[in-house]
Amino acid sequence: MTSAPSVHRVVIIGSGPSGWTAAIYAARAQLAPIVYSGVPKQDPGPVLPGGQLMLTTEVENYPGFSHGITGPKMMEEFQKQAERFGTQVAQEDILACDFSARPFTLTTSQDGQTPSGTVKAQSVIIATGAVANWIGLDNEMRLARAGGGVSACAVCDGALPVFRNQVLCVVGGGDTAMEEATYLTKFAKEVHIIHRRDSLRASKIMQQRFLSRPNARVQWNKVVVDVLGQDIIEGVILEDTLTKARSRFDCKGLFVAIGHTPATRFLKGSGVELTEKGYVMLRSRSSATNIPGVFAGGDVADEHYRQAVTAAGMGCQAALDCERWLAAQGID
Ligand code: NAP
Repeated sequence: MTSAPSVHRVVIIGSGPSGWTAAIYAARAQLAPIVYSGVPKQDPGPVLPGGQLMLTTEVENYPGFSHGITGPKMMEEFQKQAERFGTQVAQEDILACDFSARPFTLTTSQDGQTPSGTVKAQSVIIATGAVANWIGLDNEMRLARAGGGVSACAVCDGALPVFRNQVLCVVGGGDTAMEEATYLTKFAKEVHIIHRRDSLRASKIMQQRFLSRPNARVQWNKVVVDVLGQDIIEGVILEDTLTKARSRFDCKGLFVAIGHTPATRFLKGSGVELTEKGYVMLRSRSSATNIPGVFAGGDVADEHYRQAVTAAGMGCQAALDCERWLAAQGID
């Protein structure tokens, strides 16, 4: 890191597609942004600088990569592009934000837990993303990290050849589970929804869309209690939630779709308005939050689309809104 000014014009928190895109735009606008890229942690699943794409193998749906690209490689390229235009990178977390007075004061941390200092900013772009919820099983996490057929994003990973014409499982009973399972029915031999109750939470239309597929199956009142396989998933152990009976079910893919948790814990007490589910609330058709000078983009402010390409687009919007806001304050 080069020597930092005492007050940054723009601090970007988060290093997924949204954060790096915001950085590319802010750097090209000569705002000398600094990205707090975060530190690796378990929360309870793996959380890495670079975000959810760091846990994805092949990304085939991001325009411009006709032969696909791995998630980690893509984030490396995003970062290089941001740095090429002068973005500074601090491999630290932001633990807390004081937005009560400008310049804002952000508390930094080198280990993700203990405060290590503060940084001042005229404006802030929040791009910390959301973390997919996992069941929390050791073998689930091991195979997810190894690209062994366990994933929290069917739209990202489901079309890979390894899943074609196979029996696949999707855990969850919400709209995401239905959407992911419906998507998988295009490639898979059978798609089994594993749901812990006897009725689905998903909207009727999403249920119908899935259930109308000839290869759609539902295993009611079941939870996954273990994942089998050394390098590649071979099956799961299911437990009946009513009888507690356990059984082995052979499958070649496990997609966990039990919701996401936005990474907004560090905003507690900051005054940034959040939605009921904890996502950053944006002003209509803008990346602005309720606090002037604080913007947000990507999954942290989007519980609906959650795609790399939409996150990148929101990061761009946040940087443009931020640039205009700074100019209006006479800061350029
Ligand atoms: P969600 O609605 O919270 O559903 C999560 C599902 O996972 C629930 O069925 C829940 O079971 C189950 N679950 C939670 N924790 C579990 C655990 N530890 N073990 C097993 N199962 C567990 O989350 P979502 O489906 O991601 O949807 C989030 C929001 O995005 C919703 O508002 C949804 O409507 C929206 N969305 C919309 C679309 C669309 O319209 N195209 C697509 C995707 C998402 P229970 O039902 O028993 O609680």
